Amino acid sequence: MADRLTIRSLSATPVTVPMKRPLGTSAQTIKDASLLLVNLLTEEGIKGCAYAFCYLPSVARALVPVVEELGEALAGQPLVPVDIARRISRHFKLPGVAGPLTMVAASVDTAAWDAFAIAQGLPLARLLGGATEPIMAYNSNGLGLMTPEAAADEAEALLEGGFKAVKLRLGRADLDGDLAVVRSVRKRLPDDIHLMVDFNQALSFAEAMRRCSALEGEGIYWIEEPLRHDDYRHAALIAQAVKTPLQIGENFTGVQPMAAALAAGASDYVMFDLDRIGGVTGWQRAAGLAASHDREVSSHLFPEVSVHLLAATPTRHWLEYVDWADVLIAEPLRIENGMAIVPDRPGHGMRWVESAVTKYKLD
Ligand SMILES: [Mg+2]
Repeated sequence: MADRLTIRSLSATPVTVPMKRPLGTSAQTIKDASLLLVNLLTEEGIKGCAYAFCYLPSVARALVPVVEELGEALAGQPLVPVDIARRISRHFKLPGVAGPLTMVAASVDTAAWDAFAIAQGLPLARLLGGATEPIMAYNSNGLGLMTPEAAADEAEALLEGGFKAVKLRLGRADLDGDLAVVRSVRKRLPDDIHLMVDFNQALSFAEAMRRCSALEGEGIYWIEEPLRHDDYRHAALIAQAVKTPLQIGENFTGVQPMAAALAAGASDYVMFDLDRIGGVTGWQRAAGLAASHDREVSSHLFPEVSVHLLAATPTRHWLEYVDWADVLIAEPLRIENGMAIVPDRPGHGMRWVESAVTKYKLD
């Protein structure tokens, strides 16, 4: 196996795949997953890949030339992940690594690490110093804003596969609406099943304080993003006042916002989104910071890569499991008894099903 690789090119394909269970959040309802599939080809023939979760088809389409242009800048460079990360951040220095450009930067970084791990013949988790032991996962498919009865039915259905935890979206017009659903779901689920809730930034500070306090004693495992994601000062006041742990972090764009959140005491737990935190390189930096603060780290989306990264995260906590990309992947992530199995294949183990890529490709 080649241990020194040279980047030849990058390519990207925008796709949109239907989700089995639509996700109604307080922000909007998502029925399809719009992804950008990114491929990195080396001169030695080893390929790395990754996907960006773009939310909108137009964003997935728009990023194709951005990936190709970055590919021209990286062509001919040795595939050394630390150097590639530096080159990517230099490439985007003037426009700024923000918004959708973070998706490109992170997915190319991840594809580079994938190729690097394949060349070493190691699963990404082991390359990063982790074990390939199973990782505890919660089922985050579905459970959007729905009626109390429908939510209880869906929560029960989501335990299939042995899941020991599920996540419910909140943020209805009033507190009573949210409480009715929480009680309906909690009543239906066995006592040993954890229930996370996510407001998706729906509330004002006063309303967040009121609702988070009201959720105490309702058997909630964590309360996620009650406030605008970067309002660390007010989040800290809620974290202090409410015993139920507060979870934020899917909107940390790189390590600096996380450092600010930790300094403010904005949450009890943190979660990293592969695209926003900066790919494999960004995750490792953030995981180091979390470890230095003894702060539990969960993942946001991207379960196929996050499972490896959590395996190498000293303060690992929960993997967020969604099956949205499964139809595109030859061997999707496996869940056994509620635990995510770290693939033993070299790299992160994702390979595209070409017929599915053709079928779901955006024009
Ligand atoms: Mg969330």
